[in-house]
Amino acid sequence: MTLPDHALDAVVVGSGPNGLAAAITLARAGLAVRVYEGAATAGGGLRSAELTLAGFVHDPCATVVATALLSPFFRSLDLPTLGVELAHAETPAAHVLGPDRSVPLHRSVAEQAVTLGRDGAAWRRVIGPLADDADRLMPWILGPVPRPTRHLVLAARFGPAALLPAAALARLAFRDEPARALFGALAAHAMVPLEGVGSAAFGLVLATAAHAVGWPVVRGGSQRLADALVAELVRLGGEVLTEAPVRRLADLPATRTVLLDVTPRQLVAMAGDRAPARYVRRLERFRYGPGVCKVDWALDGPVPWRDPELARAGTVHLGGTLGQVGAAERAVAAGRLPGRPFVILVQATVMDPTRAPAGRHTAWAYAHVPHGSRADMTAAIEAEIERAAPGFRDRVLARHVRTASGHEAYNPNDVGGDIGGGLATLAQVVARPTLAWDPYATPLPGVYLCSSSTPPGGGVHGMAGHRAARSALRREFGIRA
Ligand SMILES: Cc1cc2nc3c(=O)[nH]c(=O)nc-3n(C[C@H](O)[C@H](O)[C@H](O)COP(=O)(O)OP(=O)(O)OC[C@H]3O[C@@H](n4cnc5c(N)ncnc54)[C@H](O)[C@@H]3O)c2cc1C
Repeated sequence: MTLPDHALDAVVVGSGPNGLAAAITLARAGLAVRVYEGAATAGGGLRSAELTLAGFVHDPCATVVATALLSPFFRSLDLPTLGVELAHAETPAAHVLGPDRSVPLHRSVAEQAVTLGRDGAAWRRVIGPLADDADRLMPWILGPVPRPTRHLVLAARFGPAALLPAAALARLAFRDEPARALFGALAAHAMVPLEGVGSAAFGLVLATAAHAVGWPVVRGGSQRLADALVAELVRLGGEVLTEAPVRRLADLPATRTVLLDVTPRQLVAMAGDRAPARYVRRLERFRYGPGVCKVDWALDGPVPWRDPELARAGTVHLGGTLGQVGAAERAVAAGRLPGRPFVILVQATVMDPTRAPAGRHTAWAYAHVPHGSRADMTAAIEAEIERAAPGFRDRVLARHVRTASGHEAYNPNDVGGDIGGGLATLAQVVARPTLAWDPYATPLPGVYLCSSSTPPGGGVHGMAGHRAARSALRREFGIRA
């Protein structure tokens, strides 16, 4: 600790990408900022660790940093100077339709159109304009509740399609299974049923990101990106205290503003009786989503995919047809473990061999499970991989499993194993965490929420933190940043 308490202008609780983005935004405006982090290392969902064997670097949470590349906050940083290098796969992702059949998600829209055959023109029509305009579209989407009047053309391109249920858009736009399943699997990242109104939005955003910037990883592990954010904060005069969990707001030094990179449930606990009862009731209505059970592997070689297309992809979706992906997501939403889960797998060493000893590999995969589930999905996840990559299990040197309830123990923001900071239904995208013109402000004087439980929601983009900090600067200090 270098800054004396009395010299502090602001404190931030939580050092996830949003907490650190908030702290940097405040420090850039000249404020003296301290970040309190409960864990032993900074970074929240952006950490890395040798979870399995010495020499194997794993990311317990986020690995793919596509949303960071499209984020105005991350774009304001000189990442190469801060030591951050990105690594891409030949194709951002691929979707497994059956044991011998897959469909890639290419960087180029033109190549994608060729791959999708008679659905190519539709893909070009639906995704192409979004990818072409990604530099304007993504800052708009990553902002607070989109205000269509300011972005009529963008809103007209994205809005109507995004508001559809993902399954309906897939069936309306595409005729064949490869395009339908590929799109459905992208939308399924949101962990809401594909029949839900607005569930197409995630699919559109992830497809757009793949074409616009790819789905890269950070060379050496996601922790490098978190370390870069900490270094930038320190350069600006701020500091991060680790192993410093905050239990009550009353325990914090008196500062003009406090930004909380926590979810509504934690805010209520930390505020105690300082929070107005009406606001507490509104926050208690905030709903958390399903959880994930994740397995990290140390492998003695690459995943032995039957289809060579899959070896070229950074991320692999294992889920079969649109109908099968939809059924798995419906089961989870209904509180049941799916018979055959939809599995998202990232083979980071295909992009970044530095994460494992020479010739060795890492991979992780997770399955969606009901909120708070204690189920260990290793057998079901590995069975899905074996179907497409026979002999996979023989390559496993060591594995590390974290159940949904284990995720919450690892990071209190992952309530019930929900990695998105709260359910991403249309209602909760619009009212996140409650319906308000400024979703970051709270009725507690000087206190702001800045986590993924505020717009724009989950993912590594730092935009919730950045926008919350701008709100605090404007309201508490009269600074327009
Ligand atoms: C398994 C998994 C895989 C994921 N994969 C991806 C991916 O590939 N790409 C992607 O973009 N996103 C991914 N995500 C999501 C991404 O990690 C999160 O959306 C993002 O980290 C949210 O950032 P945040 O700053 O809001 O919160 P977090 O990153 O969760 O950080 C919150 C921090 O606050 C700390 N904290 C909480 N309460 C307190 C307290 N009372 N006192 C002090 N400190 C506290 C926590 O310890 C934590 O460090 C993944 C998440 C998980 C769990």
